[in-house]
Amino acid sequence: METIAAISTPNAAGGIAVVRISGDSAVSVAQRIFRPAGNKRVDEMPGYTCAYGTVRDGDEVLDDCILTVFRSPHSFTGEDTAEISCHGGIYVSRRVLEAALKNGAAPAAPGEFTRRAYLNGKLDLTQAEAVMDTISARSELELKAAASLREGAVFRRVQECSGRLLRLLAGLAAWTDYPDEDIPEVGQENMTAEITAVRDSLLSLTANYESGRLLREGVRTAIVGKPNVGKSTLFNALSGCERSIVTDIAGTTRDVVEETVRLGGVVLRLSDTAGIHGTDDRVEQIGIGFAKKTLSEAELVIAVFDGSCPCTADDIELMKSISCSRRIAVVNKNDRDIQFDEDILKQYFIQIVFLSAKDETGIDLLSAAVSQACRINEDIVRTCTAANERQKCCIDSAVKSLEEALNAVRSGIMLDAVNVLIDEAEQKLLELTGERVTNAVVDEVFSRFCVGK
Ligand code: GDP
Repeated sequence: METIAAISTPNAAGGIAVVRISGDSAVSVAQRIFRPAGNKRVDEMPGYTCAYGTVRDGDEVLDDCILTVFRSPHSFTGEDTAEISCHGGIYVSRRVLEAALKNGAAPAAPGEFTRRAYLNGKLDLTQAEAVMDTISARSELELKAAASLREGAVFRRVQECSGRLLRLLAGLAAWTDYPDEDIPEVGQENMTAEITAVRDSLLSLTANYESGRLLREGVRTAIVGKPNVGKSTLFNALSGCERSIVTDIAGTTRDVVEETVRLGGVVLRLSDTAGIHGTDDRVEQIGIGFAKKTLSEAELVIAVFDGSCPCTADDIELMKSISCSRRIAVVNKNDRDIQFDEDILKQYFIQIVFLSAKDETGIDLLSAAVSQACRINEDIVRTCTAANERQKCCIDSAVKSLEEALNAVRSGIMLDAVNVLIDEAEQKLLELTGERVTNAVVDEVFSRFCVGK
């Protein structure tokens, strides 16, 4: 395969930058641009060894560097690989890359190193996806989930299911193709039990999918409430800065202010909205329109009420208008006497948190409520779970085909038809792991990657 090169570290100044070269002639490209100190020879360097020396572009010395050599198949890509660690300047690392490109390497496409690892059988497609998840992980749980995917947890489960389906298919084929031979009939009961077991095993892979998705993508969260209940104060307390304008003049937040914050082990994509209430102010009405839209699209609603006042018709109107199932009531201003009737809230909310946004007390209770509402817990890591929409779609299709196969078996339809349905499920599982997949799917997976990975 053509030898490729790219800067694998971020496009920013840092302590070290790494230029990675991979392919059949990786070591000879490195030899042309790297001169080791002493009398070491690059082409004689065994795998997993380093050399100190200088990188040159022709006669010009660019930098002093460390060269690490990996020999096929014992490298990330499975190919010969040379990694040059130079000083982490944007310009100097580009010059090192240019030197490699001038001396026989081609620029790597986004994700091409990982794509080669996949093509060379070092990773299945789910593990390749986990590489990207590891890079984009922003929390402990995300990192653990990516690590479990990278270790092949989903892959192994899917392979086990796929193996069971294959055995079922083989049994069916033998029995239908050679009716005269003395092959035991695949009994309806056995077949039903086996298909059900595989279906359930696959279903468990998507049981925690929604929580995992919220963990990865962040939760679209709307802070709503009537004016002056302390929405902006809470928003600012959570985001740790004075983004939203706080005043005691009702209707100050007229558009939607957004911020990303971490709370309860999850990233919230938080929107502070205009206070929802009846008003004749045209500008405020537009803001309220935005607020209602944000509310209807939210994956988590934090509804704020002023604990120091009795509940009003606007408050009740708001409670009724929340359709999102993940919802938390915040009774704010509990630094004052509480006048708000909690019993009314209990009709609409399971989770009710008393806090003072101004004093920033009780935020820990809100944090715990958020974890609970989003079901963010160790289960996401303990139980292996499909990591993205692609994996989930494959599993859903396989489950659908297996359900149809079960119905077909139960209604005594020809085994040929059952065979086709089980085969459909099998194909989806092979697509998931990347064992049988179209180039378009592979392209789609690697399009999420950055250059250098
Ligand atoms: P919003 O219109 O709902 O966004 O409300 P703001 O955040 O602008 O707050 C309205 C008023 O309530 C301001 O004067 C805040 O200082 C006050 N306020 C907000 N949170 C608290 C709180 O926890 N305790 C008390 N005593 N006052 C608060």
